[in-house]
Amino acid sequence: MEFNERQRHIIDIVQKYEPITSEKIATLLNVTRSTLRTDLSILTKMNILEARPKVGYCFVGDTLESQVVNEVTKTKVQDIMSRSVAVDEKVSIYDAIVTMFLEDVGTIFVLSDKCLAGVISRKDFIKSSIGGADMKSMPVGIIMTRMPNIHVALEDESVVHVAKRLMDHEIDCMPVVKKTDDQACEVIGRISKTNITEFFVDIFNQ
Ligand code: ADP
Repeated sequence: MEFNERQRHIIDIVQKYEPITSEKIATLLNVTRSTLRTDLSILTKMNILEARPKVGYCFVGDTLESQVVNEVTKTKVQDIMSRSVAVDEKVSIYDAIVTMFLEDVGTIFVLSDKCLAGVISRKDFIKSSIGGADMKSMPVGIIMTRMPNIHVALEDESVVHVAKRLMDHEIDCMPVVKKTDDQACEVIGRISKTNITEFFVDIFNQ
């Protein structure tokens, strides 16, 4: 719900001076009491303010901080993840670079028999080019970071937890996986620093 400018001012005033009468709010806003009547009635009906007889208005709604904390803690990886971008481990380094450009991502997952085998990032491609690799014949499997050294995320993991793990491991992205019966990982999505940044921007735009 969006508040108009006067309603936001009223909320600020009540948070600062509660309990406060409508006369005092009107004085602080330099308007008449009747001008405030509709706004105060809306804010009271929405349970943002409470009108306490003979006392005045008190703030009873969620603060912006508590709304943000609430939203951040309840959001899971599955709510903000993107679709996965993957190639088979036998694909050439050259073709994997083309995929990275076409899909506009910074990390590609590498699959073996349709299960997660590794991860390849921009730096891995740069390293292989500096090392003089024959990009058209060499498969990505040779230069990728491989299992079991891949950090993975689960779809019901909290976004805050994943953000911390991305920071701790100094990586941009993790595959979101489901474990199969033989303990291999089926890739069902990707969660990146970009997803998390977009999520925060969305919260504040709301
Ligand atoms: P960039 O190459 O753009 O700096 P990263 O910082 O994500 O991207 O990658 C740095 C290194 O970490 C690369 O060698 C990459 O293969 C590896 N890496 C990237 N993501 C993961 C991951 N989820 N788990 C393990 N290693 C990863």
